[in-house]
Amino acid sequence: MKRENVWKTYDETQCAALEKLAEEYKSFLNKGKTERECVKEAVRLAEEKGYQNLEKAVAEGIILKAGDKVYATCMDKSVALFVLGTEPMKQGMRILGAHIDSPRLDLKQIPLYEDTEMVYLDTHYYGGVKKYQWVTIPLAIHGVVAKKDGTVVPVCIGEADSDPIFCVTDLLIHLSGEQMEKKAKVVIEGENLDVLIGSRPLTAAEDEDSQDGEKKESSKEAVKAGILKILKDQYDMEEDDFISAELEIVPAGKARDCGLDRSMIASYGHDDRVCGYTSLAALLEVEAPRQTCCCLLVDKEEIGSVGATGMQSRFFENIVAELMNCMGQYNELDLRRCLANCKMLSSDVSAAYDPLYASVFEKKNSAYFGNGLVFNKYTGSGGKSRSNDANAEYVGWIRKVMEEADVAFQTAELGRVDVGGGGTIAYISAQYGMEVIDSGVAVLNMHAPMEIVSKADVYEAKKGYLAFLQG
Ligand code: MN
Ligand code: MN
Repeated sequence: MKRENVWKTYDETQCAALEKLAEEYKSFLNKGKTERECVKEAVRLAEEKGYQNLEKAVAEGIILKAGDKVYATCMDKSVALFVLGTEPMKQGMRILGAHIDSPRLDLKQIPLYEDTEMVYLDTHYYGGVKKYQWVTIPLAIHGVVAKKDGTVVPVCIGEADSDPIFCVTDLLIHLSGEQMEKKAKVVIEGENLDVLIGSRPLTAAEDEDSQDGEKKESSKEAVKAGILKILKDQYDMEEDDFISAELEIVPAGKARDCGLDRSMIASYGHDDRVCGYTSLAALLEVEAPRQTCCCLLVDKEEIGSVGATGMQSRFFENIVAELMNCMGQYNELDLRRCLANCKMLSSDVSAAYDPLYASVFEKKNSAYFGNGLVFNKYTGSGGKSRSNDANAEYVGWIRKVMEEADVAFQTAELGRVDVGGGGTIAYISAQYGMEVIDSGVAVLNMHAPMEIVSKADVYEAKKGYLAFLQG
């Protein structure tokens, strides 16, 4: 197999299209640092293109027909978007699936504490992280606070230039003799990933002002009192409101071009927004298809696709049933046929070959920057455990579609046999009996606070997804 770096093949027009897509993708990354923010932005982009809310169509009894565009969200954390085709639904759909949750630090339900006149937010990390990567970097807080009266307050602190940022501290090198002997896994303990958020005590005078004469014990936990006053003043939030909040600590700052040649993008959350965004962008270009086309962006992949908003939820199946009903095509058997007859690209990031860590890769079957969209016949670990093994016939069809559309693509495994492994959402949708293959974009530093992708691969991924929907 000959590998060609796709950059060598681009003319000026293609380079301009690639840069345009890279800018749009960076903007999506900056607006979407949590699954909720990604859903919000996906819906905004879809509505701009004429997509309507399926829930509203159901409520108003609207009959949907070929060419119509609809979306449905699940708890604001996952979203399914459809362009309806002329063929009956029972003949199946083309589905692009990806996940929009990323590893991060979640606040505990009782997070706030003061120790030695320093105030911290206690966290519990989400997904697979190398804990030592999360100390001494600028952090932001994104999320929502749901209050007892039903209001949901969005929170985003640490992104504007005028915002403060937050930090998890690490021990100075001068006193790290013992720490430096520890294994990387425990050098920073999960329980110590607490975010420093304050150090200035509330004065008695300030306390009095805020409490309408009802004076608090300013001397005791005065720094925490100061933080609580800020939360009250700026977010109308009480300490107990943390109980019903979803606040995520993510790296602060924007996606940036990477490299002197600007050939790459460095950002938090490429896993898996790089596949999510390119899948969405491809769907938004589809008008009046033959087969119904779908883009499914789900939550909770990083912790096993669990819960109502994860891929294992019945959300997708229910939405397809609603959709068929709105088209006058619903019955239980035809729903089963529809799901079984789908073709799906389950997209997630692949490990990009890293010459500095060559020993964990097998060179023939690795994913390389600038080699285009990656297809993984299987993923998994050990003897392909928990993998979806795509059907050879389906892989053959994929090759044909990609070649006809002149898409640069490569095939890969996640590292050498028995070195490790990983899972995706592919095996879950495969349970309906549909054709599914893992695909995606190669990433360096996967799961680190700053991950890197190649702009060429982002461009080829979107091209490949569009070819798949139209193939
Ligand atoms: Mn992923
Ligand atoms: Mn991941």
